[in-house]
Amino acid sequence: MKGICILGSTGSIGVSTLDVVARHPDQYNVIALTAHTNIEVLFEQCLRFQPDYAVVVDEAHAQLFIKKIENTAVKNLTILSGSPALEKVARLEKVDSVMAAIVGAAGLLPTLAAAEKGKTILLANKEALVMSGDLFMQTIEKSGATLLPIDSEHNAIFQCMPANYQTGQTAKPVRRILLTASGGPFRETPVKELINVTPEQAVAHPKWDMGRKISVDSATMMNKGLELIEACLLFNIAPDAIQVVIHKQSIIHSMVDYVDGSVLAQMGNPDMRTPIAHAMAYPERFDSGVSPLDIFEVAHMDFEKPDLERFPCLRLAKEAIEMGGMMPTVLNAANEIAVEAFLNEQIKFTDIAILIEKTMHYFTQEIIDDLTHTIQNFSNEPSCALNLILAVDARARVETKTFMAAF
Ligand code: NAD
Ligand code: MG
Repeated sequence: MKGICILGSTGSIGVSTLDVVARHPDQYNVIALTAHTNIEVLFEQCLRFQPDYAVVVDEAHAQLFIKKIENTAVKNLTILSGSPALEKVARLEKVDSVMAAIVGAAGLLPTLAAAEKGKTILLANKEALVMSGDLFMQTIEKSGATLLPIDSEHNAIFQCMPANYQTGQTAKPVRRILLTASGGPFRETPVKELINVTPEQAVAHPKWDMGRKISVDSATMMNKGLELIEACLLFNIAPDAIQVVIHKQSIIHSMVDYVDGSVLAQMGNPDMRTPIAHAMAYPERFDSGVSPLDIFEVAHMDFEKPDLERFPCLRLAKEAIEMGGMMPTVLNAANEIAVEAFLNEQIKFTDIAILIEKTMHYFTQEIIDDLTHTIQNFSNEPSCALNLILAVDARARVETKTFMAAF
């Protein structure tokens, strides 16, 4: 029996993870579930899976949750609130695997805590990896933690890697990675009409049913940009050895091109339970509940090069990883602020890329050096890298909001 902690259990990935867990009660025991504010879904999950811990990050919702759980069939449940509780449950002795399924930077500290503790990390929360980069990968290496990708493309690439491949290594016989993308809902919308896109149109993804933030990221193709950075880190490969491929059917989830000319692809119906079950059973396999692929129904597949004029966010992500240093942290923070503002109807769809680009330009080496100096004066060596990441993340958010206010 493995103990699992699901960070962000009430979200799209969290719910799919519990669906897989329910199919294998003899193999997985739910130790901890966490939510931000969605206490209705968390309550149902606690009734069904009887975890030891439930975290409700938001204090007011935690109080409501405590009341809700009184005199119910949920027994011996420890209820915690506040962000530090996420780190606490990720570190628990009884936890073997941590599903990192919180959206955005809020997932960084608990995922890093799990990495420090040497847990098996099932990584859906790509923002945590993008913003912390080398620090994250070094933490994994130092503690001997196992890092398994949940993002469907990275899980596909991992499955196509040589036998005994571990994330973070360079696979020498690999020439290129072909990172597939659906192209989102606006693949064919005339570019001049993109300015009028509404949040409802942007979150209606043609192939995948996901949370709102990642759905907007898919529409701008920032999702593919973040995934490009994620792939560079997970597979220790240069950005120019990764080709983004638009494949609208979303049947091939990515490909690995070997020096001998072999190209291996992983295919399947677009359902996140496949990568989740793959990582949960690894190195074995078990049922995910996903229906078998009907290859005759698929019939044919298309592949196109992405248009960087239509999708400036993909270009910006490429520039950020090529520039390196703190630029992916800046990109991610600016994107989180811009997407939230778009979802709140404060800015236009096309403003997302404009705001990110402005924020990236603002972060000159001089500004980064300044922040580094300030951090070094106030903290000791080991926490320095993390503090710099958090400082750059916070500063980038402020600057993005300042640019937004000037619109
Ligand atoms: P979602 O919005 O459906 O769920 C997000 C979860 O995070 C919820 O449980 C929510 O309670 C929690 N959360 C939100 N803000 C929080 C905060 N400040 N503190 C603590 N918890 C907080 O998102 P999702 O679609 O499940 O995506 C989760 C992560 O997985 C994202 O990083 C996304 O990029 C990645 N991912 C998702 C999919 C997918 O198909 N949904 C595919 C690949 C990768
Ligand atoms: Mg993906």
